[in-house]
Amino acid sequence: MGGAEAVVTVAPELRMFLRPGRRAERITVACDGVSSLGHVVEELGVPRTEVGVLVVNGHPQTARYRPSGGDIVRVRAVPRPQPLAAARFVLDVHLGALARRMRLLGVDTAYANDADDDGLVAQANAEKRVLLTQDRGLLCRRKLWAGAFVRGARPDDQLRDVLDRFAPALAPWTRCTRCNGQLKPVAKPLVEPLLEPGTRRTYQEFAQCQACGRVYWRGAHAARLTAIVDGASGAQPPDAGSTRPTARLKTSWPGELWARSGP
Ligand SMILES: [Zn+2]
Repeated sequence: MGGAEAVVTVAPELRMFLRPGRRAERITVACDGVSSLGHVVEELGVPRTEVGVLVVNGHPQTARYRPSGGDIVRVRAVPRPQPLAAARFVLDVHLGALARRMRLLGVDTAYANDADDDGLVAQANAEKRVLLTQDRGLLCRRKLWAGAFVRGARPDDQLRDVLDRFAPALAPWTRCTRCNGQLKPVAKPLVEPLLEPGTRRTYQEFAQCQACGRVYWRGAHAARLTAIVDGASGAQPPDAGSTRPTARLKTSWPGELWARSGP
C-alpha cells in the first residue's frame, strides 16, 4: 500500500481496449497488494482472452502474480496463430454474416440469432467452443472457458481476422451455411421432389445437409462464394502457375461452385 505504483505498458494492438483516459503508452497503476495482475489488466479494459504473455521486470509471470511498487509490466497480445485443441466456435448474435462465411469454409461454427449472453457462455463451455464476439463484457465473464474479440466492421474483415488468429483447417463446401450440418453428395433422384423445375432441368450434381436436409448445387451465387473462399484462403499469387486457386484447399467436392437451395 502506501501509494505503491507499477507501470504497465500494453502492446500496441491491445491499446484499442484501454478505457478512455487510460490510453497512454505507459500507464501507472496503484498496487493494493491484493489484486492479481490479470485483474489489473482487465480493469484497464483489456479482456483476458486477448492477453498473451505478461512480463514483469523482464520475466514472464502468470495472471495470478500480484504487482508491487516499482514493477515494470509489459502486456503482450495473444500469439497468432493461437493454438486450439479443436477449431470449434460459437458466434454471438451480431456476427451472422461471419458465421455463414465460416461455415462456407467448412469451419465448425455454431450460431443462433436469438441466443442470449448466458446461453452463449453455456454453449461455449459445454461444447468446448471458442466464443467469438465484439462484446468485451461478454469476454470478461468469469465462467467463459475461451473466447476472442473479433476485429473489423465488415464480415470479410472479420473473417480475415478470425483466420489470421486461429488458422483453422479449411474445407470449403462441406458444411451447411444455414445450420452448420455436414454436406454429403446426394443422387439427383433423391432430392428431385425438393427442387424447383428450373433447377431440376439445369443441374445434375447435388449435395444435401445431413442435419436439416437443405439441398445445394452449383448455381448463380457461385462467383461470389468463390471470391469469398479465395480471399479467405490467402490464395496463391496468380502467376504461381495455378489456374485454380482453391485447388490446394481440402475439399471433397467435384465442383467448386455451389450455391444453396431456396427453402
Ligand atoms: Zn443444414
